Amino acid sequence: MALIVQKFGGTSVGTVERIENVADRIKKFRDHGDDIVVVVSAMSGETNRLITLAQSIDEKPEAREYDVLLSTGEQVTIALLSMALNKRGVMARSYTGGQVHILTDNAHNKARILNIEEKHIRKNLDKGKVIVVAGFQGVDEDGNITTLGRGGSDTTAVALAAALKADECQIYTDVDGVYTTDPRVVPDARRLDKITFEEMLEMASLGSKVLQIRAVEFAGKYNVPLRVLSSFDEPDFNQDSSAKKQGTLITYEEDEMEQALISGIAFNRDEAKLTIQGVPDKPGVAYSILGPIGESNVEIDMIIQNIGADGTTDFTFSVHRNDFELAQNVLKKVANELGAREVKGDDKIVKISLVGVGMRSHAGIASKMFKTLAEESINIDMISTSEIKISVVVDEKYLELGVRALHSAFGLEQKIVEQ
Ligand code: ADP
Ligand code: ASP
Ligand code: MG
Repeated sequence: MALIVQKFGGTSVGTVERIENVADRIKKFRDHGDDIVVVVSAMSGETNRLITLAQSIDEKPEAREYDVLLSTGEQVTIALLSMALNKRGVMARSYTGGQVHILTDNAHNKARILNIEEKHIRKNLDKGKVIVVAGFQGVDEDGNITTLGRGGSDTTAVALAAALKADECQIYTDVDGVYTTDPRVVPDARRLDKITFEEMLEMASLGSKVLQIRAVEFAGKYNVPLRVLSSFDEPDFNQDSSAKKQGTLITYEEDEMEQALISGIAFNRDEAKLTIQGVPDKPGVAYSILGPIGESNVEIDMIIQNIGADGTTDFTFSVHRNDFELAQNVLKKVANELGAREVKGDDKIVKISLVGVGMRSHAGIASKMFKTLAEESINIDMISTSEIKISVVVDEKYLELGVRALHSAFGLEQKIVEQ
């Protein structure tokens, strides 16, 4: 008997039939003797629908009210799932984030979980109940409803698993694990049995939306046993305990891994870049450009600086596409003040990244990446590297071509087993 936190994403609870299927699955785990805490997302499309409603009233609605609205999606699902469980004779109770005291800071729309009081949950678990918690939401210390950022139900699940010291946190989604890259872009992408926590963190940070970044951070901090699985596959109880061999396990021990050179390819379509040209090259110039950008709350990703033949500097950096206009306006002001020649912008770019702990001990990965892209006539705009990743920025029209070419060049596709 184990204590398992199970999170079901939007597609998995996208219709009443699917909610009934999820209830059947949870019943199987209960019949198997496991204690279950469930976290659910809003039904698929619901959060987007609520965002559209809000924006039809105000393009930039007040953050507090926005959270009150967005959190309603998950409240529908907890109630429906609890009804479906109770109908099956599985005692269940639904709770909003606030009701189980998921305390967050007050950064509306992107709040961080500070604390979870587990005693209420424990009390109900002890009575044999399944606890169904609304993902993606909490309350700040003044009782205001907060939300945790898109994909935030993953973080609710991991945080609950950490607070309850659960045996496993299972993230059920519409794919059966973490793949070498998004299987929607590369159909022959391969499911990974395991991925290191560090690699998963890079993949999530670099755009693989299968897990929210904060969920991975949280799992790493509290060593939460984390597994990504499909909500459409039958649970497999023949293994040591509860479906342990299915899906992808996020592992904290690198040594036991078969060290692949590259574990995965992540990509991010939310990129934009800005260039300020002909800036006088003198100490403090980087600060005078990036300082005002930072002050306007725009996060900067990659940075390149070149000294031109005339001794002036060209400075290029990338930002989230949503911040493109704001950053461009700030930069135009800066350009005026510095006497720079020109400001240029491009919001039709994407970032493609290779991720793998194997990179630490192997040279030549960057050159192979650049050669592969050159063979497809894909021009690289920006490059950045760290110990376990290499990222390039390219024109958005080359995203699929680039990812597929790299996936095959690094031999990541499914191995055909000969009979
Ligand atoms: P949920 O609604 O269950 O939270 P998400 O849409 O947030 O589901 O995440 C699952 C999706 O993540 C998949 O359908 C897939 O298209 C996408 N994805 C992106 N990168 C990967 C990857 N490397 N492995 C698996 N899925 C990925
Ligand atoms: N419903 C929220 C979203 O769509 C949270 C989640 O699904 O994890 O982003
Ligand atoms: Mg998700």
